[in-house]
Amino acid sequence: MQPYQRIAILGGGTAGWMAALALATRQGALEVEVVEAAPTCTIGMGVASGPELREFHRMVGIDEADFLRATLGSYRLGTELRDWQQLGQRYFDMLAGMEPDGTTAQYGYQFDAQLYAGYLRRLAMLRGVHRSVGRLEQAIRRADGGISALQLDGGRRIGADLFIDCSGHDALLLAGALGVPSLDFSQWLPVDALWLCPAERSVATPAPCNLAVALEAGWAWQISLQHRSEHAYVFSSRHCDAAEARARLLARLDGAALAEPRLLHLRSGHRIRFWLRNVVALGQAAGQIEPLEAPAVMLIQRGLSGLLQVLSCPAAAQAGAIERYNGTQERLFRYERDRLILHYSRSMRRDSQFWRDMGKRTLPDGLALRLQAWRAARNPPRHDAAQGESGGWSGMHAGAGCVLRRCDPLLLELTREEALHARDARHLRLAALMEQVQREYGGQLPLPA
Ligand SMILES: Cc1cc2nc3c(=O)[nH]c(=O)nc-3n(C[C@H](O)[C@H](O)[C@H](O)COP(=O)(O)OP(=O)(O)OC[C@H]3O[C@@H](n4cnc5c(N)ncnc54)[C@H](O)[C@@H]3O)c2cc1C
Repeated sequence: MQPYQRIAILGGGTAGWMAALALATRQGALEVEVVEAAPTCTIGMGVASGPELREFHRMVGIDEADFLRATLGSYRLGTELRDWQQLGQRYFDMLAGMEPDGTTAQYGYQFDAQLYAGYLRRLAMLRGVHRSVGRLEQAIRRADGGISALQLDGGRRIGADLFIDCSGHDALLLAGALGVPSLDFSQWLPVDALWLCPAERSVATPAPCNLAVALEAGWAWQISLQHRSEHAYVFSSRHCDAAEARARLLARLDGAALAEPRLLHLRSGHRIRFWLRNVVALGQAAGQIEPLEAPAVMLIQRGLSGLLQVLSCPAAAQAGAIERYNGTQERLFRYERDRLILHYSRSMRRDSQFWRDMGKRTLPDGLALRLQAWRAARNPPRHDAAQGESGGWSGMHAGAGCVLRRCDPLLLELTREEALHARDARHLRLAALMEQVQREYGGQLPLPA
């Protein structure tokens, strides 16, 4: 018999409601309840996703136009990076080119995370998920060290067999109750704070790429939604004080600020275990990575598909499946960490203390080797579990000036003319796609009816 019949999810952000909707869709026999504190902030946050989110939407039956309307979202073809390798340099890190059928460019989205959580909540509740609004006061423990119930303010108690901790960076269940510590990435990724501010958009249509500009003590980021731009300055508080960072962010806005800037803190790293006893963490409760490569939604999704696999295992095989789950999550976080470190380690900037300090940092084990493999053989350092690669190493390496020593061996099978012809045909297909987008949408996104 399935050991988990009742599942309680603590936290109603992106992670909590993605988990609830996936469980309600794929594991309809389970009883699922989401517990969330009443929201304290009504200002949403613009976030970016890769193409993987479309897989999630297909799995739970979300219609794209409906999603874009509900989240004031727009398309995303990649990230434009400026001033990373040196001042004045600019490149695009695109979302891995074309779909295998060659007819559609790979794309993800830019959307409002708070609206997204509300949209998922409506769908999940229509599919039978229960919702309780209240603050966790205490996790009631079982004799084996697991959790038996969540004690909420107001006296309600919610019992379950499995608890999904989606309570954000404090991980109230996995870290707070079970005491699972974090592995800290700050020796490689020292940025630890960010100012966030929504602003009026200066151009008529949302830009199809988000923007990441390297600054004196970190990087500034801009995301285009249908109705506004979202700006942030993600910085190292050891290299820039908060007041100065705030001023720098405000000076960069391309339109009038729509709210007071908010200061948030972040610490890149992850829990040393993601699933312990009957508690599993997803989203920021599992770990946090600075949002340059926008990995958070993809990491939630990968966690969720691993979780669904564990749930569909026979009871006798679950202990092993949970160990594999922990290993896979750890490798995914390490992989995303390395992608981020590359942006800093390939930089030749030395114009501020931040960049001089970044230039002195050593690479983590394994990354130097992967870089060598890349340069020698254009062997993309794929994720060991073959399920984690969320974006192109090619674009990033090329942009960071990492030149290959030899070309893809497949190209040696072609004559020069054939290779050039294939390249030109690909350019033509992309140009036709861009024209089609212009024709069908007139440069505008589908708007709410
Ligand atoms: C500035 C910024 C930019 C980002 N950009 C991107 C991006 O471009 N792409 C990307 O993929 N990700 C991005 N992220 C990360 C992404 O927004 C989050 O990882 C994602 O939204 C998941 O959040 P979450 O659900 O884990 O946590 P949260 O959204 O923090 O949700 C936590 C939930 O727990 C509940 N809770 C907390 N305490 C209690 C309690 N005591 N009792 C009951 N409930 C409680 C809260 O009410 C809330 O519902 C960004 C993050 C930041 C800060």
